[in-house]
Amino acid sequence: MKTCLSLLLLLLGLCQAQPLVGEQSVADVLEDNEDMDISTRILISNNGSSELLLEGDLLLPTTRNAMKCFRNSCLWKKSSNGLVTIPYTVSSAYTSAETSRIVNALQSFHQSTCIRFVPRRNQYDHISIQSRGGCYSSLGRTGGMQVLSLRRSGCMYYGIMQHEVNHALGFNHEQTRSDRDQYVKINWKNINPSNAYNFERQDTNNLNTPYDYTSIMHYGRTAFSINGRDSITPIPNSRVQIGQRKGMTRNDFQRINRLYRLCQAQPLVGEQSVADVLEDNEDMDISTRILISNNGSSELLLEGDLLLPTTRNAMKCFRNSCLWKKSSNGLVTIPYTVSSAYTSAETSRIVNALQSFHQSTCIRFVPRRNQYDHISIQSRGGCYSSLGRTGGMQVLSLRRSGCMYYGIMQHEVNHALGFNHEQTRSDRDQYVKINWKNINPSNAYNFERQDTNNLNTPYDYTSIMHYGRTAFSINGRDSITPIPNSRVQIGQRKGMTRNDFQRINRLYRC
Ligand SMILES: [Zn+2]
Ligand SMILES: [Zn+2]
Repeated sequence: MKTCLSLLLLLLGLCQAQPLVGEQSVADVLEDNEDMDISTRILISNNGSSELLLEGDLLLPTTRNAMKCFRNSCLWKKSSNGLVTIPYTVSSAYTSAETSRIVNALQSFHQSTCIRFVPRRNQYDHISIQSRGGCYSSLGRTGGMQVLSLRRSGCMYYGIMQHEVNHALGFNHEQTRSDRDQYVKINWKNINPSNAYNFERQDTNNLNTPYDYTSIMHYGRTAFSINGRDSITPIPNSRVQIGQRKGMTRNDFQRINRLYRLCQAQPLVGEQSVADVLEDNEDMDISTRILISNNGSSELLLEGDLLLPTTRNAMKCFRNSCLWKKSSNGLVTIPYTVSSAYTSAETSRIVNALQSFHQSTCIRFVPRRNQYDHISIQSRGGCYSSLGRTGGMQVLSLRRSGCMYYGIMQHEVNHALGFNHEQTRSDRDQYVKINWKNINPSNAYNFERQDTNNLNTPYDYTSIMHYGRTAFSINGRDSITPIPNSRVQIGQRKGMTRNDFQRINRLYRC
């Protein structure tokens, strides 16, 4: 059987015209190799499929660029209750035992993420699970009915089902990640040139998760090999095991929670009571206010109040060119508009907060005339902003209920200038302890350490950008504890610190 399998793998790359083996023998090969990784199973199953498949099991998108889709709006929608509901149907061609296995695999997403698969009633967008010519799926939500094929012969494995569902959620293969060349070497000489496109590096959003050799989305070592030798070799240690035999890893689940922000079961409080809670707690720190305000927002938010970048990686942007431009006079002029939905008193408070940047920095907010890049201040579903300049119009949301505080306005403007949260700084572990046990795992991504540019400024517990002690706590105990002195006050009640201003001057070389 080993020989047969090697032969099969050898031929996989050479011959796409004909199925190598009949349906029954594919199943035999697969059954007899308990130790085969998921992606190899998929590639064997799909060999000879009449569908146009990218990287072995991605349906070629017919109307648009898959990657743009992935980063853009082709995610499944989140309801106001924080859950991402995905309607599905299962073809009647499956036996009831097979249907159970499929439903079981779908439900494996329910425990650790906010994804909820529900039998379709009459929803327009849905996944139709059918036994077609292989195991494959589209990338992300395509709109309307989309097929997720699990052929009865060859694809009825828990891991394969999870793999294809990950594609439908918007995830690409791990070894096409933008940073993959640091982790694997692609051995082009062992790959049939006609299959080389399956190994193209993609410009992916890696969601600040580590490269994961054991991701359910990683190809096996010999995927599309023409000679049985490695097509993919891990570096620097070539013996690391790659590919998956069982099911999704912690990273795989974490990524889903990052891509589909704020995976929470229920909003804590309704809009009215949000305002009440906030008014009644004069002493509440800014970030806590923001998190309460945004809970249950339908926007895709990172770390509670950062809009998911739609065209690129936020961190790359921050470090790269996504700062606002400085004029020859040394001033950084940022055009803004304020929605007419605000009262004139509210508009005054907003303008006042914007002008607070004028005294100590080279930032100058000016009412927009016809400039292309500008900030549009609107009362949307929470207090949030993009990170840095995105190009064109970018929304900075200050909801009339819950966000009309000087400190919140300054906080969101700091995001728009390119600043991340203080407690995600690269050096934060010297200053704070993150108490993971007090944090709901589905919110853990909000506390990920980032690879930040700290501009030689000290870690600042009282920065306007620092979360409060109990941000995202599930039990009221500290999610963030200062070290070594746990009694240091953290978070902000009033406004920006000297450090906060200094950082702006350093970032923009004012
Ligand atoms: Zn795949
Ligand atoms: Zn924030």
